[in-house]
Amino acid sequence: MQKILIVDDEQMMLMLAKRVLSEKYEVVTARSGAEGIEVYDREQPDMILSDLLMPEMNGFEMYETLQKNSDKHIPIIFMTSDDSDEAEGRGFDQGAADFLRKPFRPAALLRRVDNTLGNVERIRYLTEEATMDEMTGLLNKVSVNKQLTELVKHETGVLMMIDLDSFKLINDMHGHDMGDRVICRFAELIKNTTRNGDIAGRIGGDEFIVFCLGCQEESMVKTITERLNESIFASAKEYIGGEMNIPLGASVGAVFVNDSDEDYNELFKRADKALYSVKQRGKHGYAVYCTEMDKAAPSADLKSLSMLFEERSVLDGAFFLGQEAFSNVYRFMIRFIRSYGKTAYKLLFTLSPDNSHSEYAFTEATDRFGEMISKTLRKSDIMVRIRENQYFLLLPEIGTEDIDSLISRLLRLWMDADCSGSATVRYEKELISPPTTDRSDRQGDDKP
Ligand code: GH3
Ligand code: MG
Repeated sequence: MQKILIVDDEQMMLMLAKRVLSEKYEVVTARSGAEGIEVYDREQPDMILSDLLMPEMNGFEMYETLQKNSDKHIPIIFMTSDDSDEAEGRGFDQGAADFLRKPFRPAALLRRVDNTLGNVERIRYLTEEATMDEMTGLLNKVSVNKQLTELVKHETGVLMMIDLDSFKLINDMHGHDMGDRVICRFAELIKNTTRNGDIAGRIGGDEFIVFCLGCQEESMVKTITERLNESIFASAKEYIGGEMNIPLGASVGAVFVNDSDEDYNELFKRADKALYSVKQRGKHGYAVYCTEMDKAAPSADLKSLSMLFEERSVLDGAFFLGQEAFSNVYRFMIRFIRSYGKTAYKLLFTLSPDNSHSEYAFTEATDRFGEMISKTLRKSDIMVRIRENQYFLLLPEIGTEDIDSLISRLLRLWMDADCSGSATVRYEKELISPPTTDRSDRQGDDKP
């Protein structure tokens, strides 16, 4: 319930206004300007209804003092029996929301208060919309910039730039809605790691900023990184299912804020450099900024490059890629195959819905089909989901007989799966052979 502070030295008026407004609002009262300040500080009401003419401290003076000590606008309606235009003009100049002449009709008082509080609510909503990231409820980039620019001038702590690892694959393989769900969950995990006074915001698609007030220990950055990595992977696994084949995680670039009068833009660049170094070293970890990172990109060593490129070595099955990555690897493999006299098969699976099942059942069936083929294929095979219902595969070094028996095996496995009744599978295959003689083979259906 919204709260109103009524300030009036006339007991009768005070009681009358209180009776009218108590029907709808929580009401607190004060009998003088000085008491009004005291009650305001204690009760933090949503608005003030104040008499103008009071002994010792009048309504204007009280409001001036309150507003001076507050960093937000305090909505106020002044009441007065003084019907001079001058008083009204001064009230509005001071930022009054409205002006009410005594004696007032109860209905008019209630309507004016309703209007003012309605505006307060609208302003609060618009302010929130302008400062929050709608999807996650964290601060948005503009307000993170604004708040941290001020905060780092006089507070110490650690600034962390956090980016999800391999997040694009979630979108590519499980859809944008699943991607959104993972982002929201990650935002929740970030919120759980922050304390009162810390700042957390989303500054890009899968990129976040966190400032932990007063923190000066690297061990805390390490703990946060580990916790975020474990939790986001576990959550995604829970959403997607045990077969999740994506090395989802988070990289953290950190910079400690020690001195006073730090420049946020400079700190942001340093955190970004630290984040870049984690991504270069193989992701799923953290780095604290050091001046070495300012030098031109250091030469990578064999060990760190291997870590970076072997990231997926823990995963079984075909290499499931997003479309952009797939097209790069695909082009390279075709060139390799043709240049070195190798062969490969292209394979396209298309699933069509069975009309007796729901749309949801079909979506689930297409997801399951992708998981099944990715698990069954070799690590040297690559695949991409090019549409909700289509998987495109490139299978190097496989003979004509082997491809047929592989397809038969896949289709048999599919027929055995619980959800196979919700979708019919067709496939097309095409041999890639050197030097240029590609040959199209037959079209098939789901009968092996
Ligand atoms: P890396 O490990 O190198 O960080 O790569 P990544 O796969 O995590 O991808 P990257 O950080 O380069 O790009 C983030 C992607 O997030 C790009 C964009 O397709 C996707 N994205 C951006 N905003 C949203 C969003 O609001 N929802 C969803 N689902 N995806 C988003
Ligand atoms: Mg990312």
